[in-house]
Amino acid sequence: MDTVWDVVVIGAGAAGLACSVAAAEAGASVLLLERGQALGGTTVYSVGSMTAAGTSLQRRAGIEDDTEQLIEDMWDYPDAGLSGDAPDLRRLYAEESGPTLEWLVRHGVQFTLPNIEPPHRVARMHNVVPSSRSYITRLAEAARAAGVHVALATEVRELVLEDGTVSGAVVAGPEGESTVLARRGVVLATGDFSGNSVMRQEHLSEAAAAALPINPEALGSGHQLAAQAGGELVAMDRLFGPQLRFGPPPRRGWLDRLPTWRWLCAIEGAVVRHVPASALRPVVKSLLVTHMSPTDALFRSGAVLVDRDGVRFGQEQDPAKELSARPGSTGYIIMDESVATTFDSEPNFISTAPGIAFAYFTDYRRGRPDLVTRADGVEELATRLGLDASALSASVGTSELRAPFVAMGPVHSMLTVTEGAVRVDGSLQVQRPDGQPVRGLFAIGAVGQGGMLLKGHGHHIGWAMTSGRVLGVRLAARPLDASSTRIQDEEEAA
Ligand SMILES: Cc1cc2nc3c(=O)[nH]c(=O)nc-3n(C[C@H](O)[C@H](O)[C@H](O)COP(=O)(O)OP(=O)(O)OC[C@H]3O[C@@H](n4cnc5c(N)ncnc54)[C@H](O)[C@@H]3O)c2cc1C
Repeated sequence: MDTVWDVVVIGAGAAGLACSVAAAEAGASVLLLERGQALGGTTVYSVGSMTAAGTSLQRRAGIEDDTEQLIEDMWDYPDAGLSGDAPDLRRLYAEESGPTLEWLVRHGVQFTLPNIEPPHRVARMHNVVPSSRSYITRLAEAARAAGVHVALATEVRELVLEDGTVSGAVVAGPEGESTVLARRGVVLATGDFSGNSVMRQEHLSEAAAAALPINPEALGSGHQLAAQAGGELVAMDRLFGPQLRFGPPPRRGWLDRLPTWRWLCAIEGAVVRHVPASALRPVVKSLLVTHMSPTDALFRSGAVLVDRDGVRFGQEQDPAKELSARPGSTGYIIMDESVATTFDSEPNFISTAPGIAFAYFTDYRRGRPDLVTRADGVEELATRLGLDASALSASVGTSELRAPFVAMGPVHSMLTVTEGAVRVDGSLQVQRPDGQPVRGLFAIGAVGQGGMLLKGHGHHIGWAMTSGRVLGVRLAARPLDASSTRIQDEEEAA
């Protein structure tokens, strides 16, 4: 690994890969450092929806869209407390998300035609085909083609600071510890902090801190590196959740096992864009029963939530928060056949991908038999689930439920992602609390949300890809500053 690069990018999820590819394609030498054994980060856990305005896929579907409407709609999520959070970043998102999606399409990423998700006034949510793994495969191919040097199993533990400017990073990899320097910028693309229990306890509510992270490797190390360099952390207490989620199936679904070969993805993309939505329903339903949260409406219809001892511990007003306080943040949804039947047809779904499809009780019974347990009585149900029979009996006694019973679970209280991030300005440079930049240091994707709260589907990937691509292009064109010239002098002297 060489010592001096134009751009050093830390973290190889959506944001880090997009930034590395864009910078290298624009002529910069790029070192991409990834702590894990593989590329992908939280991005590969995602469903892969990306919300963007003014795309060719929207035009193909006859949809006219523009930047100003996207900005207005992003602020329109009810009760989300978004108003005025980071206007310059929302504008960047709105202006550049469309060109970024086109850039991904040029690199071979396949999308469905856009779907609508209120409060967006038009369809803007583009879903990747067949899964989020294809973002990583296509960008990894592009990185190789553009000459990005990727170092896996290589962690950044410290930034190099010279006279207040970040000029490089101390890395620990398979060959030991070394220092790398960046002439044009060091980029944090390290994801969120939902997997770091110490940071969760420091910044989040008790319920959110106790919930289980979906990606336990989302450790917030970029937040810490930025703070050590003088950067400000913002909106650290914010997140949307926790949410109830079922665990993954015992065996990965076939959609998650499909290879991401370019030609195969191209065929799949053409198929999903041309066949009627009804023909794709079985595929979408299998996605829903694997990835989506069960609705709280179950509880309003009489279902109860018990913990893994069989104890009903609340009134299911905010079930995910209540469950996070119980052992293992894990429990079961208990209902009877009458409730299950209610959730077998419109408008009562168990989970949904908004605007795309709904999954009903029968879809879970067929698609996730591991999650559905039926029994003629409480004792039998307790035995089948391994719960304490008297506790479960007492819990059911507090409800209107009648035998035969149905349980869904185990269900967990989980954090999808955290929203708190490093403050960045419109150029994505890290900011100090006094509004001055931390020179040489940039942040993108989840760690670079800069106080912008990304409620709704498709905005996180949209921001990760958009901020990454935009910064890559800008850094490649960035004039070298005094400290970078010093790096160059040292390199020449060596
Ligand atoms: C279940 C689930 C579903 C989701 N679905 C969607 C969706 O459909 N649409 C959407 O918009 N968003 C979705 N999200 C959110 C979205 O996936 C993330 O916000 C986004 O992928 C973050 O991308 P990123 O590049 O910023 O970070 P990541 O993808 O997390 O990448 C960060 C990388 O940095 C590496 N790293 C961290 N620290 C270091 C270090 N010190 N040194 C070296 N490497 C380091 C990590 O190992 C990781 O690979 C979903 C999230 C989850 C959990």
